[in-house]
Amino acid sequence: MIPDEYRQLTDAHARNRILSIKEQLGKRLVVLGHHYQRDEVIELSDFRGDSYGLCERAAEQKEAEFIVFCGVHFMAEAADIISHQNQIVHIPDLTAGCPLADFADLDSVVEAWESIAELCGANAITPITYINSTADIKAFCGQHGGTVCTSSNALAALKWGYDRTEKVFFFPDQHLGTNTGNKLGIPAHQRVVWDLSLPYGGNPPEAIIQSKLILWKGHCHVHTRFNLEHIQQVRNSYPEARIIVHSECSEEVVNASDANGSTTFIIKYIEQAESGATIAIGTELNLVHRVAKEYPDKKVVPLARSMCPNMYKINLQNLLWTLDNLGKVNIVSVPEAVKKDALIALNQMLQIH
Ligand code: SF4
Repeated sequence: MIPDEYRQLTDAHARNRILSIKEQLGKRLVVLGHHYQRDEVIELSDFRGDSYGLCERAAEQKEAEFIVFCGVHFMAEAADIISHQNQIVHIPDLTAGCPLADFADLDSVVEAWESIAELCGANAITPITYINSTADIKAFCGQHGGTVCTSSNALAALKWGYDRTEKVFFFPDQHLGTNTGNKLGIPAHQRVVWDLSLPYGGNPPEAIIQSKLILWKGHCHVHTRFNLEHIQQVRNSYPEARIIVHSECSEEVVNASDANGSTTFIIKYIEQAESGATIAIGTELNLVHRVAKEYPDKKVVPLARSMCPNMYKINLQNLLWTLDNLGKVNIVSVPEAVKKDALIALNQMLQIH
């Protein structure tokens, strides 16, 4: 909880103080802003990007003593894993988590892994975790010859996995896994969904043995909010519109859209569309509003209103409080033992394009 004196500051006041701290610290400080952040936070960020891009930026910041990650907790953890020993990573609100990442806890993943390995042999499976996962899940992948992926390189990561083994165990986002598997041509009968509350994840053992893709049952509530009704409404209101959605959306929404991909893919799609194009976007609302403002020659509309409440927890007041207390509050520090193996999987991710 930030002190009342900070909570009561106006945005304009907080902004001026943040600018003066940034000027004073220069290269000793770097502020990273995820695309889903509010405009006022993005404006004060040194770099903006998706989780993959910001992970790369964090790895490049050799001069910065302090990295402040305006995003959610797993992103700040990834920055801490990838940054240098003497760098301190902060997040302006430690409670800004990701419910998708919380779907997969280490004990449940280990239990599932042991059951699958007992049926198929551990050498037959590559574990791949979406970057939206906790540090210990990334470390698990590092220990078991797997990798981390993002929505930008999920397809390449899946191909990488199949170059190694006949099966991939993908967590924690069932939908990104399904949609990426579809791009690779993996038929529905060769994939199973693992429900951690049921024996063998709720699957007959033969189905697991015959599967190529085992998907953790987890989802992002921001992206699964989009449905076929929203698609139909946009098709009725704007028959000329192209509908572009994030790959965390459900399979039926992805199949009914015109294209799908990562946040970076969506931004590039809008950037490259011809002037006058109408494009409906199925992703977090802050991003849709921002690109709509940045490309006024195109009509960019949200497929429906869907916001990430956790991303929204970061504001100028808690950013200022963090900057006033660098090295003291809101520090994200991954234990060394976890860091070592998680770094193996994150470095692997940075090499898969
Ligand atoms: S948009 Fe979804 S995946 Fe991204 S941080 Fe929010 S809950 Fe997590």
